[in-house]
Order: sequence, then structure tokens, then C-alpha cells
Amino acid sequence: MSALSRLFSRLFGSRKVTDIRSYQKKAQSGQRCSLCKKRAARLTFYADGSGKVIGACRDCKANVEKVGFLPL
Ligand SMILES: [Zn+2]
Repeated sequence: MSALSRLFSRLFGSRKVTDIRSYQKKAQSGQRCSLCKKRAARLTFYADGSGKVIGACRDCKANVEKVGFLPL
């Protein structure tokens, strides 16, 4: 591994993982579904093409997958 690719993975790789983890941690403490706004014990996380992250409850999961969001 070159020094440059190490730098890139440190800058971008770890930042992304941290973002997702902090988002999931928040969700575990009772976050609302991004679509129906109902409080859900468990959300499934998706990213759209622009990198926006949403959390979908069990009921909204199917709709989210239909419109092309990618599971994280
Ligand atoms: Zn929902």
C-alpha cells in the first residue's frame, strides 16, 4: 500500500464509517423513520445517489427499496 492510498483511506474511509456508526447509534436510541416519522425500535439505513442517508422502518423498507435506495 502506498503512502497516498493509506492517507486516502484514513481521510475518507474512516470518516465514512464514523458517520454511519454515529447515525446508527442515534437510531438505536429511538429514532424516527425518515419517511413516515413514526418512532421505530429498529431502522434500516439506505443511501441515495447523492450520499444522503435515511433510516426506514419495517413498513417503509419495501417502498425505499422500490425507488432505488441502496442499503448501507
Ligand atoms: Zn416508516
